[in-house]
Amino acid sequence: AKRLGRNTYSFFSKEMNAKMLRRFKIEEQMHGALERNELELYYQPQFDVKSQKIIGVEALLRWHNIELGNVTPDEFIPIAEHTGLIIPIGRFVLQQALSFLYELQHIHHKKLTMAVNLSPRQFRDAELLSFIKKSLSIAGVSAEYLELEITEGVLMSGQSHIHDALIEISNMGIKLSMDDFGTGYSSLSYLRQYAFDVLKIDRSFINGIPASKEDCELVNTIIAMAHSLGLMVVAEGVETAEQLSLLDKLNCNLVQGYYFSKPLPAKGLLSFLVD
Ligand code: C2E
Ligand code: CA
Ligand code: CA
Ligand code: CA
Repeated sequence: AKRLGRNTYSFFSKEMNAKMLRRFKIEEQMHGALERNELELYYQPQFDVKSQKIIGVEALLRWHNIELGNVTPDEFIPIAEHTGLIIPIGRFVLQQALSFLYELQHIHHKKLTMAVNLSPRQFRDAELLSFIKKSLSIAGVSAEYLELEITEGVLMSGQSHIHDALIEISNMGIKLSMDDFGTGYSSLSYLRQYAFDVLKIDRSFINGIPASKEDCELVNTIIAMAHSLGLMVVAEGVETAEQLSLLDKLNCNLVQGYYFSKPLPAKGLLSFLVD
């Protein structure tokens, strides 16, 4: 790198250093994050398009650290995956989400569903299925109200234990949701092969409607295709009334996005429900 000249060298090394330093700090701080109680679940409501009623929530993780401030999931989840810390963190997420689901259903009498994100790495945990079973029974909620969101990255490895895990998840009565549809490999055969219940259209497509003809056409096609496979469709990242009304016309089932609500802490979600 020195051959590029002194200025170039120091420019790159400064940028690289800052990036690596932050990554290192995140990794270092993440080790104690659970013990220090720094992780908290937020919940974003999902709405039925036709009735405009709330039908469920998606659990989204938030991390506040004294040294780093707020770290976004897009920044810390990949590092947690890489280090394997996603295993204990993912367990915390599932337990918290299920215990809140119990509270919603049995204390506040709201028959809502709970969607929880699962990372590819969590499927390498031999105890994943037994942990999910145990957590459902400890929380006292029935499997049909839990929805597990996975991305195509999970399926692409083609490993047989992942195949078996997904089949068992469906057999337990848990709903399977294909997250970020349209961004990755987006294979139809995956949707058929595994018993998916829900397809979530990625925010990047919803962002383009109704302005982009191409995105409108794509969203229309995805919804029609999903329905022909018997899947429910969720549009992510709905921010405007125009988007909502087009999604209604295209027979999209459910929507999630800032137009209705940002992800809220448990208390905030509860007051959202009574207001
Ligand atoms: P995701 O699963 O696709 O979650 C949706 C993201 O879109 C969330 O970002 C949410 O806050 C954001 N969002 C929702 N509505 C709108 C909108 O109308 N406009 C815009 N601009 N954004 C909207 P968030 O919470 O920052 O999470 C980012 C990603 O981190 C998630 O994407 C998910 O892949 C991952 N993640 C979050 N929590 C967990 C978790 O508990 N476990 C795992 N494995 N991954 C998680
Ligand atoms: Ca998700
Ligand atoms: Ca998504
Ligand atoms: Ca995503």
